[in-house]
Amino acid sequence: MKDILIQDKKIAIVGGGPGGLTLARLLQLKGADVKVYERDLNKDARVQGSPLDMHPESGWAALREAGLLDEFNSNVRIGADKKIIVNERAEIFFSDHEPEAGKDAGKGPSHPEIDRGKLRKVFLDSLQPGTVVWDSRFVSMEPQNGGWLLHFKNGSSAYADLVIAADGANSKIRSYVTDIKAFYSGVTMVEINVNDAEKAIPDIYKLLNGGKVMAFGNGRNILGGQKGDGGLGFYLSFKPDENWALNSGLDFSDKTQLLAWFKIEYNGWSDIWCSLIEKAEMPLIPRPIYCMPLDQAWQTLPNLTLLGDAAHVMPPFAGEGANTSMFDALELSRCLASGEFDTLQDALSFYEVGMRKRASAAAKQSLENGQRMHSEGALEKMLAAFGVK
Ligand SMILES: Cc1cc2nc3c(=O)[nH]c(=O)nc-3n(C[C@H](O)[C@H](O)[C@H](O)COP(=O)(O)OP(=O)(O)OC[C@H]3O[C@@H](n4cnc5c(N)ncnc54)[C@H](O)[C@@H]3O)c2cc1C
Repeated sequence: MKDILIQDKKIAIVGGGPGGLTLARLLQLKGADVKVYERDLNKDARVQGSPLDMHPESGWAALREAGLLDEFNSNVRIGADKKIIVNERAEIFFSDHEPEAGKDAGKGPSHPEIDRGKLRKVFLDSLQPGTVVWDSRFVSMEPQNGGWLLHFKNGSSAYADLVIAADGANSKIRSYVTDIKAFYSGVTMVEINVNDAEKAIPDIYKLLNGGKVMAFGNGRNILGGQKGDGGLGFYLSFKPDENWALNSGLDFSDKTQLLAWFKIEYNGWSDIWCSLIEKAEMPLIPRPIYCMPLDQAWQTLPNLTLLGDAAHVMPPFAGEGANTSMFDALELSRCLASGEFDTLQDALSFYEVGMRKRASAAAKQSLENGQRMHSEGALEKMLAAFGVK
């Protein structure tokens, strides 16, 4: 058996999202010398975005190998995976809140949901003290002694033999590996957060009943779910031009403007949805949704690789992004420590081939789901996908 390739090597993971932190934990379990360089100022920085559901074969498998299932399970939000499908008038066509008699009784959720902040904390608590170097926004790096000298916005620098870019969809490191860029998926999602939702939007709060909603009408969606802090998070999801948010002239902090726009864009939708904007925290956040080309490929480097959204950002319509990032971490940690490869480059090459193949399949499914969810007759198609005739 060969020595593991990471012995006596300094490893820099840039980005402390689900992918980067999973990798840090898995590599530390194998005795590696790892630092995570994260741009957030400290561990208390607010982690934004919708809750994540963990898929058994990917996110959950990574948590199991990380030895963190108990910590994960104690932070799962029971009932958050339950969903309703409604039309634009908020009439319910599907609900899995009440399982059929006898079926699934006593079972835990098949796709358990966790808040992003809680997931981050589960990983942070599992790492050796000082692993995450906060306030380290990566700006550039240059080759040095067979590795890389990384530079951060705060003026500090650090050397690493191996760098892993886990810095998300707008990765600053990706361009050191490839110049292939993501394309616009055709969909933009406007993020809306409502605090203390039980009081602020009681009708919608009751409708969601602690779970999620998917609303479909005239090629537009509203997707939403319960958050752990008593708030609800929603996305208005529709198909404008890529630069709609910039060119619309809308002030995303101005409720009056946004309501007027919503009534035109979501023409025919019930007034119940207007309360989302009336009671939202401002500003709303427009997010054009991007996807990496499904056939992307690059030459493997000996000391630098990509992981998660930095490698393969994809639309969120299959709930695969974070799960795929965490599975990347699992695969990469196994390749680096298996003792089966002669060189780091061989190990990275094996990882990258598998990673691109998996990500491409997940991205294809996400694109297809996105097409279906924003098409004419989306409600009927989605009901059929959930087995409702
Ligand atoms: C609207 C929406 C809904 C989604 N819903 C789901 C879902 O339900 N299920 C699911 O699995 N996925 C979902 N996703 C996708 C998911 O959010 C991502 O795939 C996932 O967060 C990727 O993890 P990551 O660790 O690769 O990157 P990220 O989570 O983006 O983490 C990157 C980290 O790097 C840090 N960083 C960035 N730049 C720098 C820099 N220059 N220097 C240092 N640090 C830096 C960031 O602060 C961040 O902590 C959704 C995405 C969107 C947009």
